Amino acid sequence: MDDKTLNKGIDKVSDIIVKSKRIVVFTGAGVSTESGIPDFRSPGGLWDKYNPDDFLYQRFLSSEVSREKYWKMNSELYYILVDARINKAHYAIVELERMGKLDCVITQNIDNLHQKAGLSDDKVIELHGTNMWVNCLNCKKRYSREDIQFRLEKGIKVPYCDDCGGILKPATISFGQPMPFEETKEAERRSRLADLFIVIGSSLVVQPAAMMPLYAREGGAKLVIINMENTPYDRNADVVLYGKAGEIMEELVGKVKDILQFQKK
Ligand code: NAD
Repeated sequence: MDDKTLNKGIDKVSDIIVKSKRIVVFTGAGVSTESGIPDFRSPGGLWDKYNPDDFLYQRFLSSEVSREKYWKMNSELYYILVDARINKAHYAIVELERMGKLDCVITQNIDNLHQKAGLSDDKVIELHGTNMWVNCLNCKKRYSREDIQFRLEKGIKVPYCDDCGGILKPATISFGQPMPFEETKEAERRSRLADLFIVIGSSLVVQPAAMMPLYAREGGAKLVIINMENTPYDRNADVVLYGKAGEIMEELVGKVKDILQFQKK
């Protein structure tokens, strides 16, 4: 996308944001790559390094070897998440909330960065859970991820529950694991009520999360997609902005602020 087309698109989206009252922002791994967390599908992403089939939920449940592989990968991810810094896209979304325009963020991310940037928990629907916590799959006891990292550092390869000996798993949704019922239902409801739905940094190929833009469309929302590359829903969108989420979001929110200031005068 050349600069001229991008700038025109940014102007158009700024106008749409100004007119919107109920914005739902839908984020994927691409909103956090500028924070130092690789996405799954881009070159150099996590799936270049690991085979996703090794991390199927059913394998995790049935095999100690799979659990060991999983914790090795999650341990690496833990330090990437600890080092991650909030980026311009996360801050720009918080600005939308300050303007009173944000209904909620529906995120596929497990990195907690929207909350770190200043959104309250009730503004963020985590469709794929969070890596901040670890749950016992048997008695549901909850552990902080930090506490479990401590054990892994001491040489424990596969941690189990202190109380019941059950299998421990980060509070994230793995491939093959049922989606969280309440979050999925609420995400669909809020998508249908949105007047503007902005996708940021998602390949829109992971289901059922990728249904949300369609629900928003069915509910009458305008659809804007901000991504580095094409997505399967580009042709359903009112505007597609190709580029880096942080730069585009910063510019968009800056323009919206200018328009709102001007309108006040
Ligand atoms: P994905 O990896 O499938 O797609 C990410 C998309 O973002 C790609 O299309 C890529 O081109 C785009 N992108 C990358 N950097 C960008 C940038 N700076 N600006 C704009 N676009 C950018 O990710 P997904 O759609 O979220 O789905 C995969 C799964 O990955 C999700 O289930 C999610 O839970 C998980 N995941 C989460 C994290 C995280 O929490 N930060 C990281 C990796 C994967």
